[in-house]
Amino acid sequence: MVSFTWSRQRGGGAVEGVGALHIVVIGGGALGLSSALHLVERGVAVTVIEASALASGSTGRSIGVVGTQHVTALDVAMRAYGLRRIRAWAQCGLEFHPIGYLRLGRSDRDLQLFERSLRYQHESGIDSARIVEPAEMRALVPDMSTDGITCGLFGPDNGFLDPHQLSSVLAKMVREMGGTVRQRCRLIGADRRGMGYRLKTSAETIDCDGVVIAAGAWAGRVAELFGQPLPVLPERHEAVTIRLPEPLAYVMPMVMDLVYGGGGTGLNFRHDQPGQLVAEIHKSAGSGVADPDDYNEQIEDAGKEHLAELLLERLPGLSGAGFGHGWAGLYPESIDRRPLVGPFDGEPHLIAAAGAGGYGIQLSPIIGALAADWLTEGAPITLPEAAALRPDAMRVGPSK
Ligand SMILES: Cc1cc2nc3c(=O)[nH]c(=O)nc-3n(C[C@H](O)[C@H](O)[C@H](O)COP(=O)(O)OP(=O)(O)OC[C@H]3O[C@@H](n4cnc5c(N)ncnc54)[C@H](O)[C@@H]3O)c2cc1C
Repeated sequence: MVSFTWSRQRGGGAVEGVGALHIVVIGGGALGLSSALHLVERGVAVTVIEASALASGSTGRSIGVVGTQHVTALDVAMRAYGLRRIRAWAQCGLEFHPIGYLRLGRSDRDLQLFERSLRYQHESGIDSARIVEPAEMRALVPDMSTDGITCGLFGPDNGFLDPHQLSSVLAKMVREMGGTVRQRCRLIGADRRGMGYRLKTSAETIDCDGVVIAAGAWAGRVAELFGQPLPVLPERHEAVTIRLPEPLAYVMPMVMDLVYGGGGTGLNFRHDQPGQLVAEIHKSAGSGVADPDDYNEQIEDAGKEHLAELLLERLPGLSGAGFGHGWAGLYPESIDRRPLVGPFDGEPHLIAAAGAGGYGIQLSPIIGALAADWLTEGAPITLPEAAALRPDAMRVGPSK
């Protein structure tokens, strides 16, 4: 275990302390487990507490796609770090399937955004992505119609993983490096204790020097226990498997019909296993904010019908396919749809790692690194531009 010197501003005065850190991470999903791993890698003593079971929240309901085909510099840089770490975790037992990722574009503006993405990816060390024309898209996905599609952005080394396996591999690494991962242990209260916190849980009381709030759709409720505002809005999304009459003769990449700042239906689909695809709609159906303790976890008929319509239009070559099982889960969204990562105003050792929306699997490596940075370095040194993700008053409203 290493010792750190902490310098903190509290009530206007700087307080300094030296000690062996004990950090509690609240939430055993992708963000919490990645934060815990990045902390134990730096020699910090970590306890993860998970109210239910690992990956029982949004993580276990995701479709596990990891991609870098985004169009802003920060979005690309965060995902490039993610892709690199996930490839490294593949050496530790995580299965990553590099099936490729194709983003569909409809206009000159989309094309300009894709060209920008290539530049950002190149700056982030990814040279494999390229712009593709409709004919190449049809070669990549022979069952897909390119009606209305004028350009594509294709990353051949993007892919998907099993989010349950991601969680168990991360938890195993955390434990092997001396961390503790406790399931069925819910945070129910928090008090200041000296420079740190006294946490009341459903199992015991835990004293610690700092806390990472990685409670997904519950992050706002957990932040309230510390008297802090953290608006995370749980948004319900549905996913469904598609059974094919016979396995495809090619591996279908992840196809995403959505460009930020541009258009698209939000439909996305990918290879899942031989004879099976999985599909989802990334755009919100606008059904409002869900209660994470009380929402319909099954796919609804209206959702299936909407997906079927979009799939028939985009994948007419697969009209003989049928739906398999479907489910619903929550995107933990922030108000501005950017993750909330960093300390709260006036609380340098209370760190938010939340609000990853529909991208928490691919963003989990960088969010974990940034949460660890804030605690051990006092700044987001892995990606300094990510200082803009702090949950400061401008983003979350006045803090107490
Ligand atoms: C249908 C669907 C498809 C998706 N597909 C993708 C995808 O392809 N790629 C991608 O990158 N992202 C995807 N996502 C988004 C991704 O799943 C989320 O962004 C991510 O899982 C969020 O992880 P998290 O760790 O923040 O939250 P969670 O996984 O929800 O973890 C939070 C944990 O905190 C625990 N908790 C809550 N309160 C307490 C408490 N008081 N004490 C202790 N523990 C507590 C909960 O039990 C929970 O396990 C998808 C989401 C959905 C719903």
